[in-house]
Amino acid sequence: MSLDDHAEELASSLGVDKTEVKAKLENLEQYGVPMDEAKETVRRNYGDSESTGGAEIATKSVEEISTADSRVDTTVTVLSVGKRSIQYNGDQHVIFEGEFADESGKISYTSWEDFGLESGETVHLGNADVREWEGHPELNLGDSTSVERVEKELDIEYDVGGDEHLATLEPGDRGVNVEVRVLEVEQKRIDGRNGETEILSGVLGDETGRLPFTDWEPRTELSVDTSVRIEDVFIREFRGVPSVNVSEFSTVETLETPVEVADSGTQYQIGDAIETGGMFDIEVTGNVVAVRDGSGLIERCPECGRVIQSGQCRSHGEVEGEDDLRVKAILDDGTGTVTAILDESLTTAVYGGDLDDARAHAREEMDREVVADSIRDSIVGREYRVRGTLTVDDYGANLEATEFTKRNDDAETRATRLLAEVDP
Ligand SMILES: [Zn+2]
Repeated sequence: MSLDDHAEELASSLGVDKTEVKAKLENLEQYGVPMDEAKETVRRNYGDSESTGGAEIATKSVEEISTADSRVDTTVTVLSVGKRSIQYNGDQHVIFEGEFADESGKISYTSWEDFGLESGETVHLGNADVREWEGHPELNLGDSTSVERVEKELDIEYDVGGDEHLATLEPGDRGVNVEVRVLEVEQKRIDGRNGETEILSGVLGDETGRLPFTDWEPRTELSVDTSVRIEDVFIREFRGVPSVNVSEFSTVETLETPVEVADSGTQYQIGDAIETGGMFDIEVTGNVVAVRDGSGLIERCPECGRVIQSGQCRSHGEVEGEDDLRVKAILDDGTGTVTAILDESLTTAVYGGDLDDARAHAREEMDREVVADSIRDSIVGREYRVRGTLTVDDYGANLEATEFTKRNDDAETRATRLLAEVDP
Protein backbone atom coordinates (compact mmCIF):
# COMPACT_ATOMS: atom_id res chain seq x y z
CA MET A 1 0.00 0.00 0.00
CA SER A 2 1.42 3.38 -0.97
CA LEU A 3 1.44 6.42 1.32
CA ASP A 4 -1.29 7.85 -0.87
CA ASP A 5 -3.49 4.78 -0.25
CA HIS A 6 -2.87 4.99 3.48
CA ALA A 7 -3.84 8.68 3.43
CA GLU A 8 -6.98 7.90 1.43
CA GLU A 9 -8.08 5.17 3.82
CA LEU A 10 -7.33 7.18 6.96
CA ALA A 11 -8.95 10.37 5.66
CA SER A 12 -12.15 8.57 4.75
CA SER A 13 -12.31 6.77 8.11
CA LEU A 14 -11.84 10.10 9.94
CA GLY A 15 -14.09 11.96 7.53
CA VAL A 16 -11.50 14.68 6.88
CA ASP A 17 -9.55 16.17 4.00
CA LYS A 18 -7.09 13.76 2.38
CA THR A 19 -4.46 16.36 1.39
CA GLU A 20 -3.96 17.39 4.98
CA VAL A 21 -3.79 13.80 6.24
CA LYS A 22 -1.29 12.96 3.54
CA ALA A 23 0.94 15.89 4.47
CA LYS A 24 0.94 14.80 8.11
CA LEU A 25 1.77 11.20 7.19
CA GLU A 26 4.57 12.33 4.88
CA ASN A 27 6.03 14.46 7.62
CA LEU A 28 6.02 11.57 10.12
CA GLU A 29 7.42 9.18 7.54
CA GLN A 30 10.33 11.52 6.97
CA TYR A 31 11.23 11.19 10.63
CA GLY A 32 11.34 7.43 10.18
CA VAL A 33 8.10 6.77 12.07
CA PRO A 34 6.63 3.41 10.95
CA MET A 35 3.38 3.76 8.95
CA ASP A 36 1.14 2.08 11.56
CA GLU A 37 2.41 4.40 14.24
CA ALA A 38 2.15 7.43 11.95
CA LYS A 39 -1.50 6.63 11.28
CA GLU A 40 -2.17 6.31 15.01
CA THR A 41 -0.59 9.69 15.60
CA VAL A 42 -2.63 11.36 12.89
CA ARG A 43 -5.79 9.73 14.28
CA ARG A 44 -5.00 11.24 17.67
CA ASN A 45 -4.33 14.62 16.04
CA TYR A 46 -7.91 14.61 14.87
CA GLY A 47 -9.07 13.66 18.35
CA ASP A 48 -10.25 10.28 17.21
CA SER A 49 -10.86 8.21 20.31
CA GLU A 50 -10.96 4.90 18.49
CA SER A 51 -7.25 4.30 18.93
CA THR A 52 -7.29 4.71 22.69
CA GLY A 53 -10.76 3.45 23.37
CA GLY A 54 -11.39 6.90 24.82
CA ALA A 55 -9.14 6.15 27.78
CA GLU A 56 -7.48 8.96 29.68
CA ILE A 57 -3.73 9.16 29.32
CA ALA A 58 -2.19 7.87 32.53
CA THR A 59 0.09 10.08 34.61
CA LYS A 60 3.12 8.01 35.49
CA SER A 61 6.42 8.26 37.27
CA VAL A 62 9.50 7.43 35.23
CA GLU A 63 9.85 4.04 36.90
CA GLU A 64 6.26 3.14 36.01
CA ILE A 65 6.67 3.86 32.30
CA SER A 66 7.00 0.63 30.34
CA THR A 67 7.25 -0.34 26.68
CA ALA A 68 3.64 -1.50 26.99
CA ASP A 69 2.49 2.13 27.34
CA SER A 70 1.71 4.00 24.17
CA ARG A 71 1.45 7.51 25.67
CA VAL A 72 1.95 9.01 29.10
CA ASP A 73 1.82 12.24 31.08
CA THR A 74 4.75 12.75 33.39
CA THR A 75 6.70 15.40 35.30
CA VAL A 76 10.47 15.23 34.96
CA THR A 77 13.70 17.19 35.32
CA VAL A 78 15.77 17.57 32.17
CA LEU A 79 19.19 15.97 32.80
CA SER A 80 20.74 16.58 29.39
CA VAL A 81 19.93 18.04 25.99
CA GLY A 82 21.85 16.97 22.91
CA LYS A 83 21.23 18.36 19.46
CA ARG A 84 21.79 16.19 16.42
CA SER A 85 21.12 16.35 12.76
CA ILE A 86 19.78 13.25 11.06
CA GLN A 87 19.31 12.52 7.40
CA TYR A 88 16.11 11.13 6.04
CA ASN A 89 14.99 10.96 2.42
CA GLY A 90 17.72 13.38 1.46
CA ASP A 91 16.55 15.94 4.00
CA GLN A 92 18.28 17.17 7.09
CA HIS A 93 16.30 17.14 10.36
CA VAL A 94 17.44 18.49 13.67
CA ILE A 95 16.37 16.47 16.68
CA PHE A 96 17.01 16.80 20.42
CA GLU A 97 17.99 13.88 22.62
CA GLY A 98 19.05 13.23 26.16
CA GLU A 99 17.75 12.04 29.51
CA PHE A 100 14.93 12.99 31.88
CA ALA A 101 14.67 11.96 35.52
CA ASP A 102 12.35 12.09 38.49
CA GLU A 103 12.56 10.67 42.03
CA SER A 104 11.98 7.14 40.70
CA GLY A 105 14.59 6.88 37.92
CA LYS A 106 15.74 8.18 34.56
CA ILE A 107 14.68 7.68 30.97
CA SER A 108 16.08 8.75 27.62
CA TYR A 109 14.14 10.84 25.16
CA THR A 110 14.06 12.04 21.60
CA SER A 111 12.31 15.27 20.74
CA TRP A 112 11.27 15.81 17.13
CA GLU A 113 10.35 19.42 17.83
CA ASP A 114 12.39 22.20 19.40
CA PHE A 115 10.75 22.79 22.77
CA GLY A 116 13.77 24.78 23.96
CA LEU A 117 14.50 22.20 26.65
CA GLU A 118 17.29 23.12 29.06
CA SER A 119 19.21 20.99 31.52
CA GLY A 120 18.04 21.42 35.08
CA GLU A 121 14.52 22.63 34.41
CA THR A 122 11.46 20.67 35.45
CA VAL A 123 8.76 20.13 32.87
CA HIS A 124 5.35 18.56 32.76
CA LEU A 125 4.97 16.49 29.60
CA GLY A 126 1.51 15.85 28.27
CA ASN A 127 0.89 13.12 25.73
CA ALA A 128 4.46 11.91 25.31
CA ASP A 129 4.85 8.87 23.08
CA VAL A 130 6.53 5.81 24.52
CA ARG A 131 8.76 3.84 22.17
CA GLU A 132 11.07 0.96 22.70
CA TRP A 133 14.73 1.72 22.24
CA GLU A 134 17.26 -1.08 22.76
CA GLY A 135 14.79 -2.94 24.96
CA HIS A 136 13.99 0.06 27.19
CA PRO A 137 11.14 2.55 27.07
CA GLU A 138 12.05 5.93 25.63
CA LEU A 139 9.95 9.08 25.50
CA ASN A 140 9.29 10.70 22.15
CA LEU A 141 8.10 14.28 22.06
CA GLY A 142 6.39 15.42 18.91
CA ASP A 143 3.84 17.94 17.74
CA SER A 144 1.08 16.29 19.77
CA THR A 145 3.12 16.58 22.99
CA SER A 146 2.70 19.51 25.36
CA VAL A 147 5.65 20.78 27.38
CA GLU A 148 4.94 22.98 30.36
CA ARG A 149 7.60 24.47 32.65
CA VAL A 150 6.99 23.69 36.31
CA GLU A 151 8.35 25.65 39.29
CA LYS A 152 9.25 22.58 41.26
CA GLU A 153 12.43 20.87 42.31
CA LEU A 154 12.39 17.12 42.03
CA ASP A 155 14.58 15.20 44.42
CA ILE A 156 16.61 13.35 41.82
CA GLU A 157 19.75 11.35 42.43
CA TYR A 158 21.43 12.07 39.09
CA ASP A 159 23.82 14.79 38.00
CA VAL A 160 22.21 17.43 35.86
CA GLY A 161 23.91 18.71 32.72
CA GLY A 162 25.35 15.61 31.08
CA ASP A 163 28.93 15.80 32.41
CA GLU A 164 30.55 12.37 32.19
CA HIS A 165 33.89 10.62 32.44
CA LEU A 166 35.24 8.50 29.60
CA ALA A 167 35.01 5.23 31.56
CA THR A 168 31.27 5.60 32.12
CA LEU A 169 30.33 6.36 28.50
CA GLU A 170 28.32 3.78 26.59
CA PRO A 171 27.25 3.53 22.97
CA GLY A 172 23.90 5.29 22.69
CA ASP A 173 24.70 8.07 25.20
CA ARG A 174 23.76 11.50 23.87
CA GLY A 175 24.00 15.10 24.95
CA VAL A 176 27.13 14.34 26.94
CA ASN A 177 29.90 16.75 28.01
CA VAL A 178 33.49 15.65 28.64
CA GLU A 179 36.67 17.34 29.84
CA VAL A 180 39.57 15.62 28.13
CA ARG A 181 43.06 15.92 26.75
CA VAL A 182 43.66 15.19 23.07
CA LEU A 183 46.26 12.40 22.98
CA GLU A 184 46.35 11.59 19.28
CA VAL A 185 44.75 13.23 16.28
CA GLU A 186 44.94 12.85 12.52
CA GLN A 187 43.11 14.35 9.61
CA LYS A 188 41.27 11.95 7.31
CA ARG A 189 39.32 12.21 4.10
CA ILE A 190 36.26 10.00 3.96
CA ASP A 191 33.29 9.48 1.68
CA GLY A 192 30.57 11.23 3.62
CA ARG A 193 26.92 12.03 3.02
CA ASN A 194 27.74 14.84 0.66
CA GLY A 195 30.77 13.48 -1.15
CA GLU A 196 34.31 13.54 0.10
CA THR A 197 34.73 15.27 3.41
CA GLU A 198 37.44 15.93 5.94
CA ILE A 199 37.24 14.66 9.51
CA LEU A 200 39.50 14.35 12.53
CA SER A 201 40.02 11.10 14.33
CA GLY A 202 42.17 10.24 17.29
CA VAL A 203 42.24 9.40 20.98
CA LEU A 204 41.00 11.39 24.00
CA GLY A 205 42.00 10.78 27.59
CA ASP A 206 40.83 11.78 31.07
CA GLU A 207 41.59 10.52 34.58
CA THR A 208 39.40 7.45 34.01
CA GLY A 209 40.67 6.16 30.65
CA ARG A 210 41.15 6.64 26.91
CA LEU A 211 38.67 6.44 24.06
CA PRO A 212 38.76 7.06 20.31
CA PHE A 213 36.97 10.09 18.90
CA THR A 214 35.76 11.48 15.58
CA ASP A 215 35.21 15.17 14.88
CA TRP A 216 32.89 15.50 11.89
CA GLU A 217 33.61 19.23 11.53
CA PRO A 218 37.40 19.45 11.97
CA ARG A 219 38.20 21.94 14.71
CA THR A 220 41.64 23.44 15.20
CA GLU A 221 41.18 23.37 19.01
CA LEU A 222 41.44 19.58 18.86
CA SER A 223 45.21 19.37 18.54
CA VAL A 224 47.58 17.05 20.37
CA ASP A 225 48.09 17.78 24.06
CA THR A 226 45.34 20.38 24.25
CA SER A 227 42.89 20.09 27.14
CA VAL A 228 39.32 20.84 26.17
CA ARG A 229 35.76 20.80 27.40
CA ILE A 230 33.53 19.38 24.68
CA GLU A 231 29.80 19.83 25.14
CA ASP A 232 27.08 17.86 23.43
CA VAL A 233 28.79 14.79 22.04
CA PHE A 234 27.15 11.47 21.28
CA ILE A 235 28.62 7.99 21.69
CA ARG A 236 28.71 5.25 19.10
CA GLU A 237 30.41 1.93 19.03
CA PHE A 238 33.48 1.77 16.85
CA ARG A 239 35.25 -1.59 16.51
CA GLY A 240 33.98 -2.76 19.89
CA VAL A 241 34.96 0.40 21.79
CA PRO A 242 32.68 3.36 22.68
CA SER A 243 33.69 6.25 20.43
CA VAL A 244 33.14 9.96 21.17
CA ASN A 245 31.44 11.75 18.26
CA VAL A 246 31.92 15.51 18.05
CA SER A 247 29.18 16.88 15.78
CA GLU A 248 28.38 20.17 14.11
CA PHE A 249 26.38 21.10 17.25
CA SER A 250 29.13 20.24 19.74
CA THR A 251 31.04 23.10 21.29
CA VAL A 252 34.75 22.91 22.07
CA GLU A 253 36.35 25.16 24.65
CA THR A 254 40.08 25.13 25.41
CA LEU A 255 40.87 24.69 29.11
CA GLU A 256 43.71 26.56 30.87
CA THR A 257 44.32 23.78 33.39
CA PRO A 258 45.55 20.59 31.76
CA VAL A 259 43.23 17.61 32.23
CA GLU A 260 44.84 14.76 34.16
CA VAL A 261 45.03 11.67 32.03
CA ALA A 262 45.09 8.13 33.41
CA ASP A 263 48.51 6.56 33.00
CA SER A 264 48.69 4.40 29.95
CA GLY A 265 47.92 0.91 31.04
CA THR A 266 45.66 1.90 33.93
CA GLN A 267 44.96 -1.10 36.15
CA TYR A 268 41.47 -2.53 36.04
CA GLN A 269 39.75 -5.51 37.54
CA ILE A 270 38.41 -7.57 34.65
CA GLY A 271 34.77 -7.17 35.78
CA ASP A 272 35.10 -3.37 35.97
CA ALA A 273 36.93 -3.24 32.65
CA ILE A 274 34.12 -5.11 30.89
CA GLU A 275 31.63 -2.74 32.52
CA THR A 276 33.26 0.23 30.70
CA GLY A 277 32.14 -1.33 27.43
CA GLY A 278 35.63 -1.16 25.96
CA MET A 279 38.72 0.97 26.59
CA PHE A 280 42.06 1.77 25.00
CA ASP A 281 45.29 0.70 26.62
CA ILE A 282 44.40 -0.82 29.98
CA GLU A 283 46.03 -3.44 32.16
CA VAL A 284 44.52 -6.43 33.92
CA THR A 285 46.02 -9.27 35.90
CA GLY A 286 44.60 -12.76 36.07
CA ASN A 287 45.19 -16.46 35.75
CA VAL A 288 45.23 -18.10 32.35
CA VAL A 289 42.51 -20.72 32.76
CA ALA A 290 42.57 -22.05 29.19
CA VAL A 291 44.05 -21.61 25.74
CA ARG A 292 41.28 -21.55 23.16
CA ASP A 293 41.10 -23.40 19.86
CA GLY A 294 42.59 -21.43 17.02
CA SER A 295 45.80 -20.81 18.95
CA GLY A 296 49.37 -21.80 18.14
CA LEU A 297 50.38 -22.39 14.52
CA ILE A 298 47.39 -21.16 12.56
CA GLU A 299 46.62 -20.47 8.91
CA ARG A 300 45.17 -17.22 7.58
CA CYS A 301 43.44 -16.45 4.32
CA PRO A 302 45.86 -14.45 2.12
CA GLU A 303 42.91 -12.32 0.91
CA CYS A 304 41.23 -11.23 4.14
CA GLY A 305 43.54 -12.37 6.92
CA ARG A 306 40.84 -14.44 8.64
CA VAL A 307 41.88 -17.64 10.35
CA ILE A 308 40.99 -20.59 8.12
CA GLN A 309 40.41 -24.28 8.70
CA SER A 310 41.54 -27.00 6.28
CA GLY A 311 42.37 -24.49 3.57
CA GLN A 312 38.81 -23.07 3.43
CA CYS A 313 38.03 -19.39 3.98
CA ARG A 314 34.43 -18.52 4.79
CA SER A 315 34.49 -15.69 2.26
CA HIS A 316 37.07 -16.81 -0.29
CA GLY A 317 36.60 -20.58 -0.47
CA GLU A 318 39.67 -22.71 -1.07
CA VAL A 319 42.83 -20.68 -0.56
CA GLU A 320 46.53 -21.24 -0.02
CA GLY A 321 46.72 -20.41 3.70
CA GLU A 322 49.54 -18.38 5.21
CA ASP A 323 51.07 -19.53 8.48
CA ASP A 324 50.89 -17.29 11.52
CA LEU A 325 51.27 -17.57 15.27
CA ARG A 326 48.57 -16.50 17.69
CA VAL A 327 47.32 -17.23 21.20
CA LYS A 328 43.79 -16.76 22.52
CA ALA A 329 44.18 -17.14 26.26
CA ILE A 330 41.25 -16.97 28.69
CA LEU A 331 42.21 -14.84 31.64
CA ASP A 332 40.27 -14.88 34.94
CA ASP A 333 40.79 -12.67 37.99
CA GLY A 334 37.72 -13.70 39.99
CA THR A 335 35.70 -10.65 38.85
CA GLY A 336 35.35 -11.74 35.22
CA THR A 337 37.06 -13.29 32.22
CA VAL A 338 38.54 -11.88 29.02
CA THR A 339 40.19 -13.51 26.06
CA ALA A 340 43.69 -12.10 25.70
CA ILE A 341 44.79 -12.19 22.07
CA LEU A 342 48.53 -12.42 21.49
CA ASP A 343 50.00 -11.49 18.12
CA GLU A 344 52.94 -13.23 16.45
CA SER A 345 55.65 -11.53 18.46
CA LEU A 346 54.02 -12.06 21.87
CA THR A 347 53.24 -15.66 20.88
CA THR A 348 56.88 -16.19 19.91
CA ALA A 349 57.86 -15.11 23.41
CA VAL A 350 55.51 -17.47 25.25
CA TYR A 351 56.20 -20.34 22.85
CA GLY A 352 59.94 -19.84 23.00
CA GLY A 353 60.36 -20.04 19.23
CA ASP A 354 59.41 -18.21 16.05
CA LEU A 355 57.32 -19.20 13.05
CA ASP A 356 60.11 -21.31 11.52
CA ASP A 357 60.61 -23.13 14.81
CA ALA A 358 56.87 -23.77 15.03
CA ARG A 359 56.78 -25.17 11.48
CA ALA A 360 59.75 -27.44 12.19
CA HIS A 361 58.14 -28.55 15.46
CA ALA A 362 54.86 -29.39 13.66
CA ARG A 363 56.71 -31.30 10.90
CA GLU A 364 58.71 -33.29 13.39
CA GLU A 365 55.60 -34.35 15.32
CA MET A 366 53.46 -34.49 12.16
CA ASP A 367 50.84 -32.44 14.00
CA ARG A 368 50.31 -28.67 13.93
CA GLU A 369 48.50 -28.82 17.29
CA VAL A 370 51.78 -29.48 19.12
CA VAL A 371 52.51 -25.76 19.04
CA ALA A 372 49.27 -24.84 20.84
CA ASP A 373 49.80 -27.75 23.27
CA SER A 374 53.26 -26.55 24.12
CA ILE A 375 51.96 -22.98 24.73
CA ARG A 376 49.16 -24.42 26.88
CA ASP A 377 51.66 -26.29 29.02
CA SER A 378 53.68 -23.19 29.60
CA ILE A 379 50.95 -20.61 30.41
CA VAL A 380 47.78 -22.30 31.74
CA GLY A 381 47.48 -22.07 35.51
CA ARG A 382 49.89 -19.15 35.71
CA GLU A 383 49.22 -15.54 36.51
CA TYR A 384 49.83 -12.87 33.85
CA ARG A 385 49.69 -9.12 33.67
CA VAL A 386 48.19 -8.18 30.31
CA ARG A 387 48.15 -4.75 28.75
CA GLY A 388 46.12 -3.92 25.66
CA THR A 389 42.92 -2.58 24.18
CA LEU A 390 39.68 -4.05 25.41
CA THR A 391 36.72 -4.54 23.10
CA VAL A 392 33.37 -5.88 24.23
CA ASP A 393 30.63 -7.31 22.05
CA ASP A 394 27.84 -9.87 22.24
CA TYR A 395 30.35 -12.70 21.97
CA GLY A 396 32.45 -11.59 24.88
CA ALA A 397 35.38 -9.43 25.84
CA ASN A 398 38.69 -9.47 23.97
CA LEU A 399 41.93 -7.88 25.04
CA GLU A 400 44.22 -7.21 22.07
CA ALA A 401 47.48 -7.59 23.99
CA THR A 402 50.49 -5.33 23.61
CA GLU A 403 52.23 -6.77 26.67
CA PHE A 404 51.89 -10.19 28.28
CA THR A 405 54.07 -10.63 31.33
CA LYS A 406 54.26 -13.54 33.72
CA ARG A 407 53.27 -12.25 37.11
CA ASN A 408 55.29 -14.54 39.38
CA ASP A 409 58.45 -12.73 38.32
CA ASP A 410 57.12 -10.18 40.72
CA ALA A 411 58.79 -10.44 44.12
CA GLU A 412 55.73 -9.16 45.94
CA THR A 413 53.46 -11.83 44.49
CA ARG A 414 55.98 -14.47 45.32
CA ALA A 415 56.05 -13.28 48.89
CA THR A 416 52.25 -13.28 49.11
CA ARG A 417 52.17 -16.80 47.70
CA LEU A 418 54.73 -18.04 50.18
CA LEU A 419 52.78 -16.51 53.04
CA ALA A 420 49.57 -18.09 51.78
CA GLU A 421 51.29 -21.45 51.68
CA VAL A 422 52.61 -21.12 55.21
CA ASP A 423 49.25 -19.96 56.54
CA PRO A 424 47.11 -23.03 57.32
ZN1 LIG B 1 39.33 -14.86 3.01
